[in-house]
Amino acid sequence: MTDTTCDILISGGGIAGMTAAAAFGTAGFRVLCVDPAPPVIRRDDDGADMRSTAMLQPARRVLEAAGLWEHLAPHAAPLEIMRIVDAGGETPEPRLTKDFKAADISEQPFGWNFPNWLLRRELSERLNALETVDFRPGTGTHSLFTRSREARVRLSDGSAVRARLVIAADGRNSPVREAAGIGVQTSRYGQKALAFAVTHPVAHNNVSTEIHRTGGPFTLVPLPDFQGRPSSAIVWMDDGPLALERYQMPVAAFEAAMTERSCGLFGPLTLASHRTIWPIISQKSDRLSAERVALIAEAAHVVPPIGAQGLNMSLADTACLLELAQAHPETMGDRQMLDAYHTARFRDISLRVQGIDLLNRASQVSTPALRDARAAGLQALYAVAPVRKTLMQMGLGVR
Ligand SMILES: Cc1cc2nc3c(=O)[nH]c(=O)nc-3n(C[C@H](O)[C@H](O)[C@H](O)COP(=O)(O)OP(=O)(O)OC[C@H]3O[C@@H](n4cnc5c(N)ncnc54)[C@H](O)[C@@H]3O)c2cc1C
Repeated sequence: MTDTTCDILISGGGIAGMTAAAAFGTAGFRVLCVDPAPPVIRRDDDGADMRSTAMLQPARRVLEAAGLWEHLAPHAAPLEIMRIVDAGGETPEPRLTKDFKAADISEQPFGWNFPNWLLRRELSERLNALETVDFRPGTGTHSLFTRSREARVRLSDGSAVRARLVIAADGRNSPVREAAGIGVQTSRYGQKALAFAVTHPVAHNNVSTEIHRTGGPFTLVPLPDFQGRPSSAIVWMDDGPLALERYQMPVAAFEAAMTERSCGLFGPLTLASHRTIWPIISQKSDRLSAERVALIAEAAHVVPPIGAQGLNMSLADTACLLELAQAHPETMGDRQMLDAYHTARFRDISLRVQGIDLLNRASQVSTPALRDARAAGLQALYAVAPVRKTLMQMGLGVR
């Protein structure tokens, strides 16, 4: 088997890894992207990822530069308003509703929502069209050996790769991170998230709605109409055993339970996809780089799905790495560049992991007193217009 030489080996072809491959490939770098699991690119296939990703404003620039936006735009559901509803009173009904409006800080929506299976489809097509990218699903990274001038990687098919930079996009249990000897700090919440699509009689009007009661948020994010009806992607976080029970519930009982949890805001909810279930943790790697290695996405940081931060942080990682690589292409992957990457991203990542951890813990509270305190906190933050605007800008990642 012949060895491969490339500029960049990307370990992991999830949405983050594939986007990085498209971004670096479009910029002219020779990229090899490997993943043992081929992407599932059809909505109804087994294993299709029914989560959706709200691509916030800065992510759009990354997608444009990677030649992806034009293919994604026809499928986008814009997010004009983020509505937070507190339903933490005695009965499961809204007692406080606050709208965060994109128009208050920008001429554009906060972001655009896409189903993850569709992102994978468009990413696969883009990678196949790029001559600079060799995308090899079905092959994983097996081992890593680095020298100051290059990295040598053994793949699961026995072949070897020499690269100037290895980008670890191989998920929360990243084998490349482990091989590079980088540790992680992990927090567990005992929570799981159900992710699925629904249709409903009441239009969403491009409003993303996050409803808080106990156990975690119940969030509806707009999708384009499905089979002629308004549709949303739902992420329902709760204690693990409860989430598991709902994952296995007969459809009619599940629909009744989610309609009640949604406070009936969109009328009766109809399940419009299979259900997927995800463990919820927070995790941060101790460093973002090692010799000839950069960590991005969940290999570097995992956050609970609140405020659409996870993949957006990952695209910010890619944007930062690409900018540094383009500034000095001849020394790409050297220590100076990787130290600069760590310095540029680590603080922002740490703040976001910490902030989302706090928000998640607040959304879990169950006693009436703590739920009242959470509602009072929302009221107070919302009341001061400059604070409200700053929070929105920070959430977007433009501040
Ligand atoms: C319920 C839920 C909803 C979410 N909603 C949003 C949202 O609205 N907005 C947002 O920004 N983020 C969101 N996120 C976060 C977002 O989904 C994740 O950040 C993102 O999917 C992680 O992508 P990733 O590519 O890092 O990891 P993964 O998708 O886990 O990809 C890692 C890949 O590495 C591969 N791999 C494993 N071992 C190897 C190996 N040895 N060699 C090569 N490859 C390997 C795996 O097969 C996998 O394909 C959500 C998360 C959850 C749980």
